[in-house]
Amino acid sequence: MEAAKPPSRRFLQSEDFKPLPHIIADNTAHADPSAFPISERSRAFKDQFFPAASDAEWLDWRWQLRNRIRSLAGLERIFNLTADERDAVSRHTGSLPMGITPYYASLMSLDNPSEGLRRTHIPVGNEFIKMPGEADDPLGEDHDAAVPGLVHRYPDRVLFLATGFCSTYCRYCTRSRMVGEAGGEYEFSKSQWEKAFDYIAAHPEIRDVLISGGDPLTLSDDRLDYLLTRLRAIEHVEFIRIGSKIPVVMPMRITKSLTDMLKKHHPLWMSIHFTHPDELTPEVTESTARLADAGIPLGSQTVLLKGINDDLSIIKPLMHGLLKRRVKPYYLYQCDPITGSSHFRTPVAKGLEIIEGLRGHTTGYAIPTFVIDAPGGGGKIPLLPDYVVGRDGEDLILRNFEGGTYRYHDPDGVIGTEPCHQQAAQ
Ligand SMILES: *Cc1c(COP(=O)(O)O)cnc(C)c1O
Repeated sequence: MEAAKPPSRRFLQSEDFKPLPHIIADNTAHADPSAFPISERSRAFKDQFFPAASDAEWLDWRWQLRNRIRSLAGLERIFNLTADERDAVSRHTGSLPMGITPYYASLMSLDNPSEGLRRTHIPVGNEFIKMPGEADDPLGEDHDAAVPGLVHRYPDRVLFLATGFCSTYCRYCTRSRMVGEAGGEYEFSKSQWEKAFDYIAAHPEIRDVLISGGDPLTLSDDRLDYLLTRLRAIEHVEFIRIGSKIPVVMPMRITKSLTDMLKKHHPLWMSIHFTHPDELTPEVTESTARLADAGIPLGSQTVLLKGINDDLSIIKPLMHGLLKRRVKPYYLYQCDPITGSSHFRTPVAKGLEIIEGLRGHTTGYAIPTFVIDAPGGGGKIPLLPDYVVGRDGEDLILRNFEGGTYRYHDPDGVIGTEPCHQQAAQ
């Protein structure tokens, strides 16, 4: 049955992409790095700023890591910086350093400082302003750490911080306090991992391990294989997922050898951090296709960011683009109140407005859950637009997505008799 092709390949021919004949012709070409696409935009960027790099180098994730933009000089060579950006980069010390893969930089505007992806990765002066309500560890993760690097907040699952390293550093990072800097409590060493394995093994109630960081996909295949093998060896661990932005910021990391290794550890799920439809390049179509073809169910996580993606006209096409790539929108986050992130934060009403703009108006699968990760370690709290209008005797009065009013006979119900927030306060 030579003719059958995975459906994902068809997207390469859909309206947003130029066909890539060598990939369409041969689905088994994944072992060959040349099968990975380089978009026109990224190629132009590569030719201008990394003219000595071959295609094979550009498509080598270790080359991408080695050539990350990490200094003011590195940034100035490529970007037309504002005085504020220049000053912020020079002032910055400590954790959450600047880091951008050449590939991801190729998606950013070189001249426009208000362009979204650029704003998420190039520091600005606002980062140094601490607003009321902000904290270095607002979610109280350090407090909930069972052993260093293992956060046990929910009854049946843990967050395993496998590394403090990322290929790119998002300026609104929830773990800005600990990423990109060696030392401190979070050494992410072998012995730290061992303590985490021991803790999980000693707690049979833990059936779900979320591997995050830092970005776990920056680990070598061997180390990741070791981590997954050790977790799989614990009988009560039934669900493992990896949280990563790598498929988006360094898609060439998703090699055949990586997916072959990941496949051995099924059932394995993955949550991928997406921000903006501009990230949905042919490269990302390929990285997500490889993961999905490896049988890994994919979910997305998106942080709402002021002036970057805080609009239905941006979130909706992003969610649609994810569905086309077999990624189920999972969480839409209110931006955590980490120190120096106020310039990214939207009012909570914005998230509700976006969810309301999706529900009913488009595919239910395209709708993520809007959550606030509660400061102080309360965990993720979902927020929904209120569709309950009130009660009329035995009828509950509801409104639908178009604003129409509907009755539902609910004789014994109490919902709708008083505002929800009063019920919650009791
Ligand atoms: C988000 C998170 C989880 C996983 O939560 P889900 O709702 O199952 O995705 C687990 N532990 C911590 C500390 C988290 O922040």
